Amino acid sequence: MESTVPVKPLRVLIIEDSAADQEIYRRLLLEHADFDYHFLEAKSGEEGLQLCVSAHPDCVLLDYLLPDINGLEFLAALDGEVSPSAIPIIMLTGYGNEMIVAEAMRGGAADYIPKDALSSENLGRAVVNAIEKYQLRAAIEEQRRMLEQTNAELRHKNEEIRSFYHMLSHELKTPLTAAREFISIILDGLAGALTDEQRDYLSIAKDSCDQMTFGLNDLLDVARLDTGKLRVTPRPGCIGSVLKRAVASMAPLAQEAGISVHQVVAPELPEVLLDERRITQVLTNLLGNALKYTPAAGQVVLAVKDDPHRPGWVLVTVSDTGRGITSEQCARIFDRLYQARNDEAVFEGGLGLGLYICQEVVKLHHGEIWVETAPGQGSTFFFTLPTYEEMTG
Ligand code: ADP
Repeated sequence: MESTVPVKPLRVLIIEDSAADQEIYRRLLLEHADFDYHFLEAKSGEEGLQLCVSAHPDCVLLDYLLPDINGLEFLAALDGEVSPSAIPIIMLTGYGNEMIVAEAMRGGAADYIPKDALSSENLGRAVVNAIEKYQLRAAIEEQRRMLEQTNAELRHKNEEIRSFYHMLSHELKTPLTAAREFISIILDGLAGALTDEQRDYLSIAKDSCDQMTFGLNDLLDVARLDTGKLRVTPRPGCIGSVLKRAVASMAPLAQEAGISVHQVVAPELPEVLLDERRITQVLTNLLGNALKYTPAAGQVVLAVKDDPHRPGWVLVTVSDTGRGITSEQCARIFDRLYQARNDEAVFEGGLGLGLYICQEVVKLHHGEIWVETAPGQGSTFFFTLPTYEEMTG
């Protein structure tokens, strides 16, 4: 196959103490007309190093045995000045130097040729190959540099967006809380009597404020997770009681959705290590999803028992008789911002952050979270928590 390298000027530095050998390399290369060769010459390693730095040749022919240093020492010394990977170096080894070849290649040499096998053909080919290899390497290096730069820019933009939504969530929460409080005051009749219609409208407005607050809280939690500021403080506690309180707080929502919610708390459960506020958040999130994705007249069961597969751990489950999740969607539902749309691709509210936050909170408790589900068959979300004894005993 013909070489793809066009005939162009090529500055070759020959580092060789023998003038006769220098002359031989020059002649052999000139017979091989791939390049318009220009030669630079050095008779010692020291002189060669200086020329590599000052003249930056396109290729170097390096005799392994030089009067002052050997080829390997030359590569190591060059590494401190110019990266050997920036200049293709072909090492010429004498009889008995074969052993150093592997080391020379590791040290940054592009190729080697035993002196007794030198020919115009293999010297020329070695130069062409080395040049092509280094051009390719330089192109890859340039691509890598550009990618790194693009990455840095993207990281910077990402940081800006993150801090913007963090700041925005904070800024929106205060007026939202105030609006909700005033709506509550009016609903409580403190600002005068209300008609039924006014009461209904205000209730909707209040629910909308709550929805927005949930979303903003999720955004703030994700910002805290991103910056490592979401910390949990696990203390010994009773998961059964936490579960019961979470169910009670969601009872009005379940009633409104026409879904019955049952709880099954195994007797004599050991104390677990949990951050009550955060585990309540996980439970209300999972229960909220179960209510959201289960049609009216469905059922949701929350249960907690000793983990049958892992002594020293408890297993919490939230099962529903809802629409279930396909296996492709399952692979992604714990990803941040992922929302599996229903068949009609209707937007169903939410930000796609709930399960991501649940997963991170459970992980911060050293537990695991997963789901078993199938389309049309309902879903069961599982998570585990360590018992107090497991973590301390
Ligand atoms: P969101 O509910 O805000 O969309 P989540 O992170 O809580 O975000 O849930 C991600 C996706 O997982 C949801 O969009 C939904 O499609 C699916 N999902 C979660 N829980 C259930 C469930 N119990 N039944 C069916 N699908 C669910």
